[in-house]
Amino acid sequence: MSVVAIDQVHKRYGALEVLKGVSLTVDAGQVVAVIGRSGSGKSTMLRCVNGLEQFQAGSITVAGHKVEQDQAKLRELRKDVGIVFQSYNLFPHLTVGQNITLSPRITQGVGHEEAEALARKVLAQVGLSEKFDAYPDMLSGGQQQRVAIARSLAMRPKVMLFDEVTSALDPELTGEVLLVMEQLAKEGMTMLLVTHEMNFARSVADVTVFMHQGKIWEMGPSKELFEQPKTPELQAFISGGVK
Ligand code: ADP
Ligand code: MG
Repeated sequence: MSVVAIDQVHKRYGALEVLKGVSLTVDAGQVVAVIGRSGSGKSTMLRCVNGLEQFQAGSITVAGHKVEQDQAKLRELRKDVGIVFQSYNLFPHLTVGQNITLSPRITQGVGHEEAEALARKVLAQVGLSEKFDAYPDMLSGGQQQRVAIARSLAMRPKVMLFDEVTSALDPELTGEVLLVMEQLAKEGMTMLLVTHEMNFARSVADVTVFMHQGKIWEMGPSKELFEQPKTPELQAFISGGVK
């Protein structure tokens, strides 16, 4: 059963067509990685999935919600879709626990005690149980990003979207974040992620998608895609590590 179904999506900014008929499905429990050069449309595709961007043609369905530009429908959609970006944007004046319980309490009406229990559970999932009362500026970048992931998990999403979540981190801090994502994958979370971490895509993602010039240029089981790239563009991307 597909949790995310993107069908022939076209998206343009003025005269610039950035998605040129993109189709992709993510099944329940599946991990799909998206790779490709900067400007190939990866973030735009991800942002279309939770309605942060409008598109002009095609359709997207996520966990039974058709993605439409209607505020009430978008709110319903976003209850089921977690998204984590490169910048973690935690509230600096709130503790880790408060950062995590805020959304469940406000948007889902979860009670104080239940929200706290939920926050402790998701903090344990990202290996930061002891940081419940810490403030974000007491944490490393890697820890802050793990809190951002926990904050998203507290909404109990049916699918998680990740857009280059380790790109802003010092190299020595990326491993701990990737480990948390790998653990989530093992626990059966459905995930669609954009990444520059080729080893992660290859070893953790069931399917890897190579985007090029607004199109899905090539996709397949991750190991096959990396070991036997069919197009010269993917061959060049893999061997050059070009971003
Ligand atoms: P990627 O994530 O693969 O680097 P993006 O999806 O961010 O690529 O961008 C795809 C293309 O769309 C790029 O050419 C980029 O310059 C353009 N683009 C992205 N956002 C906007 C915007 N808000 N207005 C105009 N063009 C944009
Ligand atoms: Mg991007």
